Amino acid sequence: MAEVRSDIEIARAAKKKPIAEIGAKLGIPVEALAPYGHDKAKVGAEFIASLSGKKDGKLILVTAINPTPAGEGKTTTTVGLGDGLNRIGKRAVICVREPSLGPCFGVKGGAAGGGYAQVIPMEDINLHFTGDFHAITSAHNLLSTMIDNHIYWGNAENIDTRRISWRRVMDMNDRALRQTVVSLGGVANGFPRESGFDITVASEVMAILCLAADLKDLERRLGDIVIGYRFDRSPVFARDLKADKAMTVLLKDAMQPNLVQTLENNPAFVHGGPFANIAHGCNSVIATRTALKLGDYVVTEAGFGADLGAEKFFDIKCRKAGLKPDAAVIVATVRALKMNGGVKKEGLGRENVEALKRGAANLGRHIANVRKFGVPVVVAINHFTSDTEDEIAAVKDYVARHGADAILCRHWAEGSAGIEELANKVVELAEGGQAKFQPLYPDHLPLLEKIEIIASKIYHAGEVTTDRGVRDQLKAWEEQGYGDLPICIAKTQYSFSTDPALRGAPEGHVVHVREVRLSAGAGFVVAITGEIMTMPGLPRVPSAERIFLNEDGFVEGLF
Ligand code: ADP
Ligand code: MG
Repeated sequence: MAEVRSDIEIARAAKKKPIAEIGAKLGIPVEALAPYGHDKAKVGAEFIASLSGKKDGKLILVTAINPTPAGEGKTTTTVGLGDGLNRIGKRAVICVREPSLGPCFGVKGGAAGGGYAQVIPMEDINLHFTGDFHAITSAHNLLSTMIDNHIYWGNAENIDTRRISWRRVMDMNDRALRQTVVSLGGVANGFPRESGFDITVASEVMAILCLAADLKDLERRLGDIVIGYRFDRSPVFARDLKADKAMTVLLKDAMQPNLVQTLENNPAFVHGGPFANIAHGCNSVIATRTALKLGDYVVTEAGFGADLGAEKFFDIKCRKAGLKPDAAVIVATVRALKMNGGVKKEGLGRENVEALKRGAANLGRHIANVRKFGVPVVVAINHFTSDTEDEIAAVKDYVARHGADAILCRHWAEGSAGIEELANKVVELAEGGQAKFQPLYPDHLPLLEKIEIIASKIYHAGEVTTDRGVRDQLKAWEEQGYGDLPICIAKTQYSFSTDPALRGAPEGHVVHVREVRLSAGAGFVVAITGEIMTMPGLPRVPSAERIFLNEDGFVEGLF
């Protein structure tokens, strides 16, 4: 067998084309590209606005079953499928999220795909890229600074410092900063109060950037951010502190989609990067819409399992942006199915058809769930070298009994040649006109009822519990005019339930909503369940310990 090369080795050996050539494939004129080096460019706002009259291509969502800790290859499959569609003669554009430094230096590694299905330059995309996360972090923290400064200079808005919900952010898994006290140190430093940090991908500014139509809409949404409450309990907006315009200035370039290429020189937009366990988990609306104008097919990903990412893709992104997906691909791996069937991480390399059959219930539920949104489904089996023929046959058989196809895909090992069958199937589904997209719940229901619908229809929970404070808060927001907003559930990605250890397809479990947060600018209400944290921590041995610059000055250890 040929030696297996690491993601970074494959990425570095790629024959890249100048970014202007990639743009030309989509009809983007050179003047509309703002290059960042030779292989990355931002697409100009004027050019994007000029596309508005054009017809949209087909929108394909890539989602997945509940994953193993390493991920199941959604990004890898999104990139592979985009290359596969190009290979069979379709003009396809890929839309994925920008990686966060948190997981890069933690457990999961990067998020630029893997094997022979990657977007490049892999190191740049995984590290500072075009500076978007820096801009988002800065814009978020500018508002934080202006809040404490406002209080320091006399608090003219009468902000109740005990009720400030706006925290600070950084793009690092830093558990030490989850809860902090700010303004310590005496009179010159202001009024001490409790606060804390979230990871940048959980920032409302990230969500706003991902959902805004253009810079005007971005500015309006930033102004709508509720930072906390006055002593009379009325909401204080970012606009009240006159922060919205300067935040928009900081985000001016970050708002423009980043164009890069795949290993096979096909176009990809890498833009926006919220996590789907704590945020809405989809790339930016502006990138997706631009891609739909430029391509016949757009392949985009939603984070983690379909219970989180796909549900929020449909109920938040598509609902709000008026997008109508034409087909969905559910990525499954034999190893994650075995894990859902009770096998521990150490045992995943051994054949275990029985465990796989048990774990397949997880896949079955995701298939049924995605169909609830009126979107036709195909399953992609992302092939790992340890998969056995009997295991693959068992997955195909199970999916066939659920009235769908499961197609074995070898894009990780072979690039587009390994995923032609899936590409053809996706075309057949998308052209078949079967899709009748609809969100899961209507806008007008009470907020708690929307949470209950997601919990019962998608998670198969028996009950949603909350305490009095949460219920009162939801009611108060309804009275303030926020009742029509969709829900963004924050939940573990490992289970349909709120318990990461409860794999497979649990029924009748209890979903406890311990906290709710209003994201008035983004346009949703976050319901935080279980133990999920909006600031992750690093594992005992973080991947940062293995990342270094080699003697030639190249980055090693990213994956
Ligand atoms: P997700 O987007 O679902 O989180 P990724 O696409 O980022 O997952 O893949 C996670 C990791 O798994 C990457 O390091 C990637 O190289 C690796 N990977 C993906 N598919 C395969 C495969 N078929 N065989 C081996 N490794 C794979
Ligand atoms: Mg990914």
